[in-house]
Amino acid sequence: GAVTHVHVRVTPLGDELAFAVANDNTEMRAVEQARREFATNVSHELKTPVGALSLLAETIEEGADDPEMVRQFARKIRKESRRLTKLIQEIIEISRLQGDDTVRDHQPVHLTEVVAEAIDGARLGAEQRRIEVSSSVSAEPVTMGDRDLLVMAVRNLVDNAVAYSEEGGKVTVALAEDDGVAAISVIDHGIGIDQKDQERIFERFYRTDPARSRQTGGTGLGLSIVKHVALQHAGTVEVWSQPNVGSTFTLRLQAQEEGMTE
Ligand code: ADP
Repeated sequence: GAVTHVHVRVTPLGDELAFAVANDNTEMRAVEQARREFATNVSHELKTPVGALSLLAETIEEGADDPEMVRQFARKIRKESRRLTKLIQEIIEISRLQGDDTVRDHQPVHLTEVVAEAIDGARLGAEQRRIEVSSSVSAEPVTMGDRDLLVMAVRNLVDNAVAYSEEGGKVTVALAEDDGVAAISVIDHGIGIDQKDQERIFERFYRTDPARSRQTGGTGLGLSIVKHVALQHAGTVEVWSQPNVGSTFTLRLQAQEEGMTE
């Protein structure tokens, strides 16, 4: 059958209005509305893991004489706590990224190092799922920006590629440069994303399958962080995906002219 390749571009005029210049009442109200929605979502998202923790503790209380059950529930508590910690960290990160008073580093950043560090960070999670993450470097572009934020963005993409692949799968991170633009592509052959979901996945807390995201320790904030990091660097992030074929996320950033940072 016909194959459609969908390309979603997220630009400063994307789905969220937090970046809108509030120069008229309608826009100001929309920004206000987006803030309120975020606050509502955050409290909802926090209540879920806290409720789970409380329930797990209650169950242990009731069956405290069975040591095997206690151990099993303690493990679940630890897993839920990890997710809660990640959620809190990401909420703080996203509030920071959206604040207009963000002070960012603006240094030359070697993207080969960013890719290597992101892969390194994702290694443990990948090994647990027997997924091989490799890199394919055809250029060594340098961009201006915040190294830590860029590593976090690429790491989020690699973590997702691992989480949404079958066990034993392969993930590739490709680094290239074309016409002064650096491109980092994270390629997986996993479950893919339905066309109708592709433009929504960059929204905060949007997941195509909340149960699966929860199972993998996801928070629904990863891609929204990637988008904001891209925006702060005047870059873009794009997705190409097909269900059951795989996904490719590409982060594009301005590359420095050669020799400028030597
Ligand atoms: P999560 O923490 O749930 O992974 P993200 O913001 O990182 O949140 O991603 C949002 C949603 O986009 C995910 O819940 C998942 O449905 C989908 N998604 C992201 N990356 C991939 C991928 N590589 N393959 C398939 N689906 C993905």
